[in-house]
Amino acid sequence: MSRIIDGREIAAQVRAEIKSEISLLKEKTGLTPGLAVVLVGDDPASRVYVRNKGKACEEVGIRSFQHTLPADTGEEELLALIKGLNGSKDVNGILVQLPLPSHIDEETVIEAVSPQKDVDGFHPYNVGRLTIGRPLLQPCTPSGVMRMIESIGVDLTGKEAVVVGRSNIVGKPMALMLLHKNATVTICHSKTRDIAQKVRSADIVIAAVGRAGFIKGEWIKDGAVVIDVGINRTAEGKLAGDVEFEGASRRASFITPVPGGVGPMTIAMLLKNTVEAAKMASCAA
Ligand code: NDP
Repeated sequence: MSRIIDGREIAAQVRAEIKSEISLLKEKTGLTPGLAVVLVGDDPASRVYVRNKGKACEEVGIRSFQHTLPADTGEEELLALIKGLNGSKDVNGILVQLPLPSHIDEETVIEAVSPQKDVDGFHPYNVGRLTIGRPLLQPCTPSGVMRMIESIGVDLTGKEAVVVGRSNIVGKPMALMLLHKNATVTICHSKTRDIAQKVRSADIVIAAVGRAGFIKGEWIKDGAVVIDVGINRTAEGKLAGDVEFEGASRRASFITPVPGGVGPMTIAMLLKNTVEAAKMASCAA
């Protein structure tokens, strides 16, 4: 039976570290980190995410600025808001909640955010920095996963890691982070042949597919570390990961639950990025 990697507990540790970093920063520079969250439209899930991010900021002492714009906001208007936030001394981090309405080009918006305030780590500058192994601000979900792996003391050197999913926000940056820790990384996607066989050989499995129970318990190698990024709503309205938890937990050495696994880590790493951005701003001042 595997041990659970408790995302809530590790996220609480990260938040405690952040709190003391903020006190230190305030003491040294008088600066209070600030995060601007921009929401366009009224998608109910996005509203919940934005509200939770605001609450999480307040808890650790980050100022939160919420900008809610109507769904028919034009791209130019959104870009003008971002330009203002880029120039604001009170704002160290800018997060534009995705997805955006279809008449707005997401890539244009992502590139409009100053790379020094890009706390999502999605700007091509930050993607490039991560790729060459000199990260500045890194995407929150894979950073959270790395922190979870660190917490169990597993050395990734020479390990076979299989990442299922190749999105720009999870799969690709995840693979790069594992690679930089000297794992041998395989990335699987919808065109990959025989994913089961690839997962069977993995010491570390990262599931970021978006399909409940996609990774079967019997695919997991004995003693593997299994990290489930997926958040799926089942027909019964329950949250489920991408991994068949029961079967996988009989084989894995460590496994993350859903909920209570990677999810809480993502927000914690967003707060951490905001503090990092504030530190950069204070050094540049
Ligand atoms: P995307 O939809 O952007 O990417 C999904 C990836 O899975 C794609 O690369 C896709 O392949 C691959 N895929 C889909 N179907 C299959 C299949 N049948 N076989 C193999 N590969 C497949 O999702 P995200 O990366 O944004 O998110 C993945 C999951 O993680 C979702 O459940 C999401 O809700 C969750 N998530 C959780 C977060 C957290 O904080 N815990 C944060 C972000 C996401 P292809 O590229 O070929 O289409």
